[in-house]
Amino acid sequence: MQHTLVEQLRSIVGAAHVLSEGDLTAWEQDWRKRVMGKALAVVRPGSTAEVAAVVRACALAGASIVPQGGNTGLSVGSTPDETGTQVVLSTTRLNRVRTIDRDNLTMTVEAGCILQSLQETAEKEGLLFPLSLAAEGSCTIGGNLGTNAGGTQVVRYGNTRELCLGLEVVTPQGEVWEGLSGLRKDNTGYDLRDLFIGSEGTLGIITAATMKLFPQPAAQLTAWAAVPSMEAAVRLLGLAHRYLGAGLTGFEVMGQFALSLVTKHMPQLRVPFAGLEGAPPYYVLLENSDSESEEHARQRFETLLELAFEDGCVLDAVVAESLSQAHELWHIRENIPLAQAEEGLNIKHDISVAASRIPAFVEHTDALLQREIPGVRLVNFGHLGDGNLHYNVQAPEDGDARAFLDTQEARVNELVYDAVAQFGGSFSAEHGVGTLKADKLAQYKSPVALSMMRAIKRALDPQGLMNPGCMLP
Ligand SMILES: Cc1cc2nc3c(=O)[nH]c(=O)nc-3n(C[C@H](O)[C@H](O)[C@H](O)COP(=O)(O)OP(=O)(O)OC[C@H]3O[C@@H](n4cnc5c(N)ncnc54)[C@H](O)[C@@H]3O)c2cc1C
Repeated sequence: MQHTLVEQLRSIVGAAHVLSEGDLTAWEQDWRKRVMGKALAVVRPGSTAEVAAVVRACALAGASIVPQGGNTGLSVGSTPDETGTQVVLSTTRLNRVRTIDRDNLTMTVEAGCILQSLQETAEKEGLLFPLSLAAEGSCTIGGNLGTNAGGTQVVRYGNTRELCLGLEVVTPQGEVWEGLSGLRKDNTGYDLRDLFIGSEGTLGIITAATMKLFPQPAAQLTAWAAVPSMEAAVRLLGLAHRYLGAGLTGFEVMGQFALSLVTKHMPQLRVPFAGLEGAPPYYVLLENSDSESEEHARQRFETLLELAFEDGCVLDAVVAESLSQAHELWHIRENIPLAQAEEGLNIKHDISVAASRIPAFVEHTDALLQREIPGVRLVNFGHLGDGNLHYNVQAPEDGDARAFLDTQEARVNELVYDAVAQFGGSFSAEHGVGTLKADKLAQYKSPVALSMMRAIKRALDPQGLMNPGCMLP
């Protein structure tokens, strides 16, 4: 039966695009190398019609499908389990930009388009596609939609959900829902688009999307500020909202220990104020985009920083003099996860709490972890403008990191996620649930919400063939 299915898949997409032998690690292992699965086959359809035919063939054979884009997801949602029975449906050949509508400020693109290529496509048109994250050279827009990715510009432009106007989806029965409208207003019933966004491949396969475009800002300025506390960072965020308005496009926070790892493992990167006396506990990276001119943007930034100095929420600050200096500052922020990986295995969290409650959450959880697990090192950084922290935990210095993970990961997760729940937050802000946190969904989501989610899954995918085990336990 399985042999017949692989033959059928070959006849649909061509033998060259069905991989079932040899080294399939790139598709079978997750980005963080936490899990290694085994696929029956990796199939790479080149059109929506081929996706639909593949899904129909799998449904007939009772084979489950794992949709996969760039496989950069951080929650283990795009790799097969170890049974060798699942089909990985890779979207990488669905990579065409179908249309650009300059007057409607939209582009309709296929799911396998690499995010960075879409940013470049928009730029060539003199427009902006603002979704931006460190994996943009490898992740796909289908994966961004599947996970409702966030990134560094959410404070101004929203998550991927807010950037999407319409979708084309292949259903678990192999039908095609053509919902590629570029409408900004459409109140005709349930919002099916929003159902598929963030569904992590469990309800169907997104094959194309109509995404919003924006005018390019006339100027973009970046500043780096040392702040005396997390509470001060949140006060600075309030000031930035007030004085920059819609110009505030990025607001990242970085803990001192997170930056010390960058200095240690990437000594070629110059971290501003790293040598400041008494080493301030937090640093903020702010971005201001302006539709008028660079001079105007700089003036606004300077006013903001003057007010922040007066307020005491900023100890020292530097504004990038050029685009390349701005890139260097962002580069430091983007390198924190790599520096952390260099330091050794660690426990990652992608949590959100209302920005106003973050200082109390951090104070509470830092103290709790240090009390319960002495010597633990906290690598705290993230998109503070969105109330989203990557509140990561590193093994004690000179300890055995593998043994630490084996013995302490469950306990650390419990302490952190219970604290998040206590502060009214979410255990997954932007990386999704995947298979990694499916048990957490069952634990922390309300029973009513879970039962509605299960009803939706049963209604759309009664055979349970779309990415089973991912998200819904
Ligand atoms: C260095 C690095 C930095 C990152 N930074 C961020 C960040 O700032 N913000 C953020 O949100 N994420 C971040 N991520 C996580 C990751 O890049 C995003 O989740 C991204 O959206 C995944 O896209 P992908 O194409 O790689 O999807 P994949 O990893 O292939 O898939 C992710 C999920 O989406 C589903 N899926 C994929 N394609 C489709 C489709 N066409 N239809 C339906 N379902 C589909 C998969 O089944 C899976 O459940 C980062 C990752 C790395 C490695």
